[in-house]
Amino acid sequence: MTHYFIRPIQYLINGACNGLTFIRRLFGRLTKPLADTLYPDGIKCVACGNELVADNKYGLCDRVECRLLHNECYCDKCGSNLGDSGDNPIGIQLCKHCKQESHPYEYVRAPLVYDAKVKDLIRSYKFGRKRYLSKFLSQHVIDCYYEHICNKVQIDYITYVPVHKSKLKARGFNQAELIAKELAETIKKDQPHASVPLLPTLDKTIQHKLDTAQKGRKARFASVSGVMQLKKATRQLS
Ligand SMILES: [Zn+2]
Ligand SMILES: [Zn+2]
Repeated sequence: MTHYFIRPIQYLINGACNGLTFIRRLFGRLTKPLADTLYPDGIKCVACGNELVADNKYGLCDRVECRLLHNECYCDKCGSNLGDSGDNPIGIQLCKHCKQESHPYEYVRAPLVYDAKVKDLIRSYKFGRKRYLSKFLSQHVIDCYYEHICNKVQIDYITYVPVHKSKLKARGFNQAELIAKELAETIKKDQPHASVPLLPTLDKTIQHKLDTAQKGRKARFASVSGVMQLKKATRQLS
């Protein structure tokens, strides 16, 4: 079986004060984690915190500082951004790693350039326990799916990287699972007859000693070796 990976309202209240002020006062009294969980979607830009003046599916305002770079020049294999180093804009483009290494997957596509802004947003989602960011981050993945995946390959199922049960307990959610779920639900809503099932395929059996986000490329590869295993039900699929 071939595997493919995708690597992320306006609100009105009538009354003495406007809706945004009312909500800010109300939630300002709550503790931060609770406010992060309950804060209504779309009120603030997820990157800078400024109020949004219009609906935006990515939860971002119009400021230049908040525009995320779309990954338009990428390695055809691993999907990493090539910047200005794309040496063959017409044919297949490969990064320096993929010119030398083979991979056990068909291809990867990443919707955004992983720069400081995206890194901050993902860290905020993952480690800041801002679960609501899954809705906005998944929009980038959904767009990427429709642009780069669905018309090119037959998808059997959508899966995600698991987190260890101790981390799941501490964080309260698996950030990859929430995004995968949003993707599967959107496809089901858009194309009820061509929906793609969400399938948990892996278990993480060993916890990392250090967070992989803080490691270099080689160390990250080495650190995930042997820490996951296929679920029993998944073995029957291959
Ligand atoms: Zn902003
Ligand atoms: Zn590559």
